[in-house]
Amino acid sequence: MSAKFKSFMAALAAAAGIAASPSPGDAQSPAADQAAWAAACTDWDEWDKPAPPYRIHGNSYYVGTCGIAAILVVGDGGLLLFDSGTEAGSEVVTANIAALGYSISDVKALFVSHDHFDHVGGMARMQQLSGATVYAGWGASAVIRSGEADPRDPQAGMHPPMAPVASVRSVRDGEAASMFGIDLQAIATPGHTPGAMSWSWQSCDGDDCATIVYADSLSPVSRDDYRFSDHPDYLAAYRAGLAKLGSLECDIVLTPHPSASDMRKRMLSKQGLRSSDGCKAYAKSIGKRLDKRLAKERK
Ligand SMILES: [Zn+2]
Repeated sequence: MSAKFKSFMAALAAAAGIAASPSPGDAQSPAADQAAWAAACTDWDEWDKPAPPYRIHGNSYYVGTCGIAAILVVGDGGLLLFDSGTEAGSEVVTANIAALGYSISDVKALFVSHDHFDHVGGMARMQQLSGATVYAGWGASAVIRSGEADPRDPQAGMHPPMAPVASVRSVRDGEAASMFGIDLQAIATPGHTPGAMSWSWQSCDGDDCATIVYADSLSPVSRDDYRFSDHPDYLAAYRAGLAKLGSLECDIVLTPHPSASDMRKRMLSKQGLRSSDGCKAYAKSIGKRLDKRLAKERK
């Protein structure tokens, strides 16, 4: 564990004053919640379309829209929120947190998957509403602070700027921390953007514990004049991140675009969201997309 990250967390816990544990909302059974979500949304649905919140497992909830994920983890004395959705989508996320019986003011830490407006365009609003610190990958934190794209981003210049975020802390690959009783790990998975992070934590329902991995988008998408093959170091880091992701302990994989890891299909399947090879399968599918993209660049 990095001492630096650990000290951030200690400072955060002290600043937060550790309120009493938020009381659980009147959640239905996970199966009923998930059926309601699957009925309200389609695969690759619209980014800002409201979706009902549902319990993923234990203390972890999906509070995003139909098309963009946001994950709420209920810790001991504080909530953690991963991603905000777009600026408009963040209003859906806030409403979903309220529907679960919590408040955005209970959110004590905010986390970034990758620095694009569809996932964190609402982060400035969430930060203002909660007063929480935003944690982002080392290479993404400058983007979150300024709202301006990283020039190394394969999609730089394609997206509108985002509202700048006031309180951002950089996190490095492999850093781990216990935050409000949640053991959290940061896994750098660059590729879609240089500073992209995947996040992993344990979620328990009594004795039934599951390792949840919120794996970043990782799709090899770019503006027209960008070639991944022109950036060998970037490509090597991309491959290394995929290899790491594929070898993680991972009971439930979730992704910023839920359909990138077939969330709805899994919810509707007999097996449900849980799968011992979810991260492996996801990393493999992205690796194939990257191979295809590189083959296309050679033509
Ligand atoms: Zn993106």
